[in-house]
Amino acid sequence: MVIDSHVHLRHGNAERTEYTARQIVDSMDGAGVDKSVVFAICTTAFDAISRARTAHELYPDRLIPYAYALPNAERSIIGCIEEAITGLDFKGIKIHAGECTLAEYVTDPVLELADEHGVPCLIDFIGRHADLERMARAFPDTPIIVAHMGRYLCTDRGLIDRFLGIAETYGNVHMDISGVVLIWKIREVVERLGPERIIWGTDGPYPTPDLATYITTDLAKVRASGICGPELSAILGGNIARLLAL
Ligand SMILES: [Zn+2]
Repeated sequence: MVIDSHVHLRHGNAERTEYTARQIVDSMDGAGVDKSVVFAICTTAFDAISRARTAHELYPDRLIPYAYALPNAERSIIGCIEEAITGLDFKGIKIHAGECTLAEYVTDPVLELADEHGVPCLIDFIGRHADLERMARAFPDTPIIVAHMGRYLCTDRGLIDRFLGIAETYGNVHMDISGVVLIWKIREVVERLGPERIIWGTDGPYPTPDLATYITTDLAKVRASGICGPELSAILGGNIARLLAL
């Protein structure tokens, strides 16, 4: 089973581009993807849950909803995220350091909740490896998926190595390989961590050249990195299926 573990109903780009559940499923059909993890960012946690809930209700067998944990000054988001996990089939939580601090008072209640319910947190650290290290140490039972292996489109191998070193130390740290441009690093990560904690995602949808070709190009990137056989199927779906207990 091929699972895209990182798909946006609403992106964090300047245009805040949005995609409908239908567009996402059509692109999956065009590229041979069975299921996708979907979430929205650059909106409130409440609106993001509502969007992912609707997408999942439209395509319950294809789209896997994640909550978005953006703190809210008016009311706590924790209850709402908990309801989504316990009552609405949400399987994980997204956190993005581009929209909020990763200070303990913001992230720890979310990581505790994830721990309590056995769901992973997909976190974009935008390069802040010290925050990963603190969280991985403080919440050893919470699976933390590091978006983009540390930073989107990162060409700084030293920075990737800092994240990789933390993943070698803490077994609850997983690597999302979406938006990774140093393709040879993917092979290296598999060699150093083993294939079990490497998770494929596209960070799509992306319209160039078209939604489906963007996905197939990304799949080709993983194959081009030299991964094949059982390792490839684990990375393209088996690992995230196990983490989400699909
Ligand atoms: Zn993303």
